[in-house]
Order: sequence, then structure tokens, then C-alpha cells
Amino acid sequence: MTKPRIILLGSTGRIGQQALELIKAYPQDFELVGISGYQNEALLRSQITTYQPRFVCVSTPAMASALERDFPSITFLYGESGLLDLVSTPEADLVAMAIVGVAALKPTLRALETGKDVALASKEVLVAAGQIVNETCTRFKRKLFPIDSEHAAIDICLKGVAPDHIKKLILTASGGPFLNRKDLNTITVKEALCHPNWVMGKKITIDSATLANKGLEVLEAHWLFNQPLDKIEVLVHPQSIVHGLVELINGAQLAQMSQPDMKMPILYALSRGQITPFNDCPLDLTKTPLTFDYPDTHRFPALRLAYESGRLGQTFPAVFNAANEAAVDLFLAERIAFLDIATLIEKALQHHQALPTLSLESILDADLTTRHYVQDTI
Ligand code: MG
Repeated sequence: MTKPRIILLGSTGRIGQQALELIKAYPQDFELVGISGYQNEALLRSQITTYQPRFVCVSTPAMASALERDFPSITFLYGESGLLDLVSTPEADLVAMAIVGVAALKPTLRALETGKDVALASKEVLVAAGQIVNETCTRFKRKLFPIDSEHAAIDICLKGVAPDHIKKLILTASGGPFLNRKDLNTITVKEALCHPNWVMGKKITIDSATLANKGLEVLEAHWLFNQPLDKIEVLVHPQSIVHGLVELINGAQLAQMSQPDMKMPILYALSRGQITPFNDCPLDLTKTPLTFDYPDTHRFPALRLAYESGRLGQTFPAVFNAANEAAVDLFLAERIAFLDIATLIEKALQHHQALPTLSLESILDADLTTRHYVQDTI
């Protein structure tokens, strides 16, 4: 396979920064064509200097003109239309999607429609619009490669496994920082942003603390691996060494184990699901006790609500996602308490009336209506 020419959306986020380091570390395997950043202009400037992309998309025209003066040889774009133009360029063949939330949906579809495979860190895209994204992949003969450690793990385990030999998929969850905490009502933003095993962006760190992230991942796995929800399970595994398992119909369980480090799954996705040499974080099992338990969906209802939204189908998973995104923003702004996040998701799901047909428009409409509902409810 020829070396992919990559556009990376969300280069200033945690996944984006690690992806850039990998692209630079493996120049024989990858070529960087373009990047996008949203707010962090200082970091974006340093990335432009270090990685020399030909195209850069930013959030505002003012930011684009300011950067244009200092980097006259680079083409700058801005806003949502800039993102869509950037992923449409014929000069790339892989888009790495690492912007936060459902904002990645339209650029993902455009990338697929214009002939690119997508390495997808923005799992919310599949949660909200999995059916439409999968249909677009089929129609344009393109593939998605998850930048998510659990899904990369399952994808690796599934190599050589016949689909009718799969009994179930198991995603592991660290359980987040509050696995053993008694009082969940007094959790502060600062406490919720301290994850025990992973250093990640703010939104996914809060999602990990509520287990909403695992709920999003169950729905993501449903669309990625074409498995019904009752064949996708979650186990709490606080050490984050086993990332995902596949149980076969003969009772054998295949597990993928590695250190909790996103570089391996990012590299796997950028390599379009190929196994390539990587020795950054060797695993020594003699130093690693492994424990597993069932998740407590009474204390962490967001996981149960994700399953419920998935079973209801239609626009309900998009509502789950939008309510969660809106509620996490409110929690980060210290306007609601930690437990209110799941309560608001549940209220939004109860309030939602599904439209008879599923389309991109109905999904985006459900997304927007739900965000307003959550805002108005508090
Ligand atoms: Mg994950």
C-alpha cells in the first residue's frame, strides 16, 4: 500500500499532538498534508513551524489572516466550510479525525465522499450517525479505522476470526477516578479531570469519569464491528492493560494487552489497520496484576442510558450524545454537579420524540434541539 498522505483535524488536541509526533517519527510511512486547530493559536504556530503542512484550517478569518502574514507559503482556510474544503482536497488520501464531538460528523462524511479513508478518534460521529456513516463507507468504498484503544484492540483480536465464530465483544473500562468513591455528589471539576491511567482532553476525561465514554464506545463498537448491542459487554479493569476482548463461540477469549498509551492505537489507525513495528512502551506482565469486575450502572447510569438509547435506535443515540456533550460543557463551566450529567441525559432521552425517517438532517436537528433542551432545563 502506498504511504498515506494525511490531513489531521484537531492537531492541537491530545490525540492530534500524538498523531503529529508519530507522523514525524515515521517519515517513510506517512506524509502530512494539512492540519486544523481550533483555539490554541500558539501551539498551532509551533506545529506549523515544526511539521510544515501545506494546508492549515483555523476557526476564524482573523486568525487565518494573522497566520497568513507569518507563513506566506501555506494555504489557510477557516471555519466549518474551511474544514470541508480541507478534507476534500485530492492531495490527501487519509483523514485523521480528532476534533471533539459531533462537530466531526460533516467533515467525516465529506472525507469519505471525496475518496479518503478516515482514522476516527471522534467516536461521537458513529454514535450519532453510525448508519449513515457506514452507508457512506459502502457507497464510496472507503474504510474507517478507529483511534480508540478498545476498538483497535478488538480489531486486532478479530484478525483471522470468521464473523460467525464471534460470541461477544468485551470492552474494558478503567472505571475512572471515582470507581471507589462513596459520595459522587460533591465531585469538583478539578477532581474529575484527574484520570488515573490516561492523559486525555477534557471532554473525554469527564466522559471517562461518568462512564458515558464507555457508553459511547459500546455504540461505536456496534457500528464498527456490525454486532448487536446484546453481544457487546463492558468490564471494569482498573489497570487498563487489557483493552478489549473477543469471545468465540467455543468459549475461547482473545485479549489484546498493552500499556495504556494511545500511540499504538493511533499508529495502527494511521497504518490503516496494518501491524507495524513499534517499541515505545513494552509490557512486562510479571509486574502487572490484572483484575476485572462488572460496571455499577446504578452509580454510573450514563452507561445504562447509552445502551437504552442504542436499543431505541433512530435519533436516540444522537440525543444521548448531544445531551452528554451539552451537560459536560455545563459541568466544566461549574454550572451543574457531576451527577447532573447523567440526569440531564436521561431527561433529554425521555423528552425526545423520534422522527419517522433517519437522515443527516433529522440527526443534526435532534442534536441541536437536545442541546437547547439541556440548556433550558437547568
Ligand atoms: Mg477508548
